[in-house]
Amino acid sequence: KKEYDYLIVGSGLFGSVFAHEATKIGKKCLVIDKRNHSGGNIHCENIEGINVHKYGPHIFHTNDKKIWDYVNQFADFNHFVYSPLSFSKGKLYNLPFNMNTFYQLWGTKTPEEAKAKIEEQVAIYGFEKPKNLEEQALSIVGKDIYEQFIKEYTEKQWGRKATDLPAFIIKRIPIRFTFDNNYFNDKYQGIPIGGYNKIIENLLKNVEVKLSTNYFENKEFFENIATKIVFTGKIDEYFDYQYGKLEYRSLRFESEILETENFQGNAGINYNDSEFGYTRIVEHKHFEFGNQKKTVITKEYPENWTSEKEAYYPINDEKNQEIYLNYKKLSENLNHVIFGGRLAEYRYYDMHQVIASALHKSKIELQND
Ligand code: FAD
Repeated sequence: KKEYDYLIVGSGLFGSVFAHEATKIGKKCLVIDKRNHSGGNIHCENIEGINVHKYGPHIFHTNDKKIWDYVNQFADFNHFVYSPLSFSKGKLYNLPFNMNTFYQLWGTKTPEEAKAKIEEQVAIYGFEKPKNLEEQALSIVGKDIYEQFIKEYTEKQWGRKATDLPAFIIKRIPIRFTFDNNYFNDKYQGIPIGGYNKIIENLLKNVEVKLSTNYFENKEFFENIATKIVFTGKIDEYFDYQYGKLEYRSLRFESEILETENFQGNAGINYNDSEFGYTRIVEHKHFEFGNQKKTVITKEYPENWTSEKEAYYPINDEKNQEIYLNYKKLSENLNHVIFGGRLAEYRYYDMHQVIASALHKSKIELQND
């Protein structure tokens, strides 16, 4: 018998939930992570008494009561509601697109007036068969909203002209005809009181964890110490890139401590215009209604990805999807390895989705075992 039942590669949400569920029923687990901290991308660093979301702002939201109850076992949540603003051509506007935005943009005061304005613009500028992102957006919301909020922001995000981006990137554009600035439609929303690290610490409370430990630097050794492996790293790396590298979009975060109590009055302000290299400024203390003397802000710059950089957003175009499916086939032949999470499945997962996936996969695995 091997020393561990499960070796779990990666201490992000997927790995930590799996480890917790397996440990709960008496399985012996070892979690390793190549970073010097656990938690993966939800990790927070305490700076000046503020929980700084090191890998981008994270807001927990879900419609699923089971998932909400599950995370609430590990931390209490506050009543934070994400209502970002957009700074565009010198003015601030409410997001997501709602009656406040339309009032600020056109002065329309009723849903009827706002609807008429959008319909009129779509009739003039829309396309029957949109060929690219620009045509798609014009066909859904018309010229004013597109030019004020979507064009330059999206071009910064993807590093390409909107006319060179495929239409499918924007499937729909949420529009609301109420004065409601809540970004998410989900029933449950909040930030864990004390930060996300608390959730991970509680999930891993009875689990052995080794940080600063890269699976690939000792692959053979790790293959031999556990009966099964849960792998949450990059699937292409696992298979030695034999079908080529999967591509990502990356981000660069520039954080500053400011000697002021309140810099922008809100957790997130998007910067639409191309003259700013960043797409948003996050002021972390507002996630937890902090009243510290100083503040920490982070500017978020979208970047091209190279293999030394963090892989943030998978590029789910046809070429990459095909490469991924080849790796997926290989993974299905490996009975002793379970692939899970955003990097091993090459897809964007929100936190509630990755938890649901880890619970589902661990249930199947632990039942059959
Ligand atoms: P990760 O958190 O990436 O964990 C994988 C872990 O594996 C990492 O710790 C990594 O170091 C480790 N690892 C990889 N390879 C190896 C190796 N070879 N050896 C050892 N360890 C290895 N979700 C929301 O619900 N709300 C939000 O507001 C939200 N905002 C986001 C903002 C940004 C900018 C981004 C990028 C994501 C956001 N998300 C949000 C999504 C959220 O971050 C993910 O759902 C979640 O982090 C995925 O967890 P994971 O375990 O799959 O992956």
